[in-house]
Amino acid sequence: MAKDKIQAIKGMADMLPTDTPYWDKFTEAATEAARDYGYMQIRTPILEQTRLFKRGIGEVTDIVEKEMYSFVDSLNGDELTMRPENTASVVRACIEHNLLYDAPKRLWYMGPMFRHERPQRGRFRQFHQFGLEALGFKGPDVDAEQLLLVNRIWKKLGIKHVWLELNCLGQLDERKLYREALIKYFEANKEILDEEAQRRLYSNPLRILDTKNPDMQELVENAPKLIDYLGEESKAFLNRLEEILTAEGIQYKINTRLVRGLDYYNLTVFEWVTDKLGAQSTICGGGRYDPLIGILGGKETPACGFAMGIERIIDLMKEEGVSPAYKECSVYLAWSGSDTYLYSLNIAEKLRDRKVSTILHSGSSKFANQMKRADAAGAEYAVIIGESEVQDNTVTIKPLREHLEDYGTQLKLPVEEALNYLAEHNK
Ligand code: ATP
Ligand code: MG
Repeated sequence: MAKDKIQAIKGMADMLPTDTPYWDKFTEAATEAARDYGYMQIRTPILEQTRLFKRGIGEVTDIVEKEMYSFVDSLNGDELTMRPENTASVVRACIEHNLLYDAPKRLWYMGPMFRHERPQRGRFRQFHQFGLEALGFKGPDVDAEQLLLVNRIWKKLGIKHVWLELNCLGQLDERKLYREALIKYFEANKEILDEEAQRRLYSNPLRILDTKNPDMQELVENAPKLIDYLGEESKAFLNRLEEILTAEGIQYKINTRLVRGLDYYNLTVFEWVTDKLGAQSTICGGGRYDPLIGILGGKETPACGFAMGIERIIDLMKEEGVSPAYKECSVYLAWSGSDTYLYSLNIAEKLRDRKVSTILHSGSSKFANQMKRADAAGAEYAVIIGESEVQDNTVTIKPLREHLEDYGTQLKLPVEEALNYLAEHNK
């Protein structure tokens, strides 16, 4: 009897070898950029106590209200949650290890996050984020630094269809005044509010501005604007940030409706958006969160950060045609004939010693088939070994790609020379 097949959990995607070159390209660009600006990596556990996220993200947020993978550990009764984002954990770790005692810290992280959402394009239940946190900086210089860093990642990846939207949330007292005005405005238009907005009217009215409901767009377009409620200091903060961005040629749009999902943001909030991915158009979001470290029990410390969704970025790379080459190896070693295997294996090992990635063909098949495999593997060179090569202690080298300067030639070289040649051409 055939056994039924076990499938992956809904919304949790496999990343297949055809996709990993995109993943590698992203990782390289992002970690290089982080290094260029002096950010160091931090890794925190996937599981944390549920109350960390409840406190650190806020009870009246999409994430805490309905998206968390929370459970009780049946072995000891602990209430645990699989991290839906990484900022709260990073802050927890910094407080726990007293990382901020001597100097501010620039940190980056990358890894899987978990949210119980309806799976669709750009929205998964396990997805991956790359993000930065700068803790102990008042800004706005560091807010700008992070935006320059993000822009550098887009450049490294060759992504063009993306723009920056910026807003200033001011401080809590400014938001309080605005909140009251907003509640009044929405109360006067109660019949247009959908169920979610009605529920949030008094608990988190700013989030109503973020609605994706088309029937409410006009209403939120005409709502009072937070920017009109900012005091002088907040305005000056935003102006300085704009000055720095302009000086460095970073284009942006002020979006007065941008409030972001998490409670703890103040002053700067931003999103990088694209028009190439349909509904899930935000590929990076972040801002300043000066209150958070205090909320989580540390000493009040200003901080800012962002997170980008790697799946959405990879989708965008595909949309924009910035495809990394599929490449299993640099050299595919094709061999045939009696007593040629050990000779070939020895050559393959010597190539690997020289850091030339090499696949040694496995199994016996015709040279023609082996050459097809070499092509499919994305190899730059085929090394061909038959009985004659073994006899005169040589190898034959065949360049496979048109972009190679030696394309169209075929060389038969003594072993040592051949190894040097390949090492030289695979730098
Ligand atoms: P959205 O409004 O799309 O739900 P969000 O405000 O919940 O986004 P953040 O918490 O700011 O998102 O996370 C930062 C980034 O992580 C997003 O801009 C997006 O690129 C990515 N992201 C968030 N949720 C998901 C998900 N479920 N699947 C894939 N990527 C996601
Ligand atoms: Mg969300």
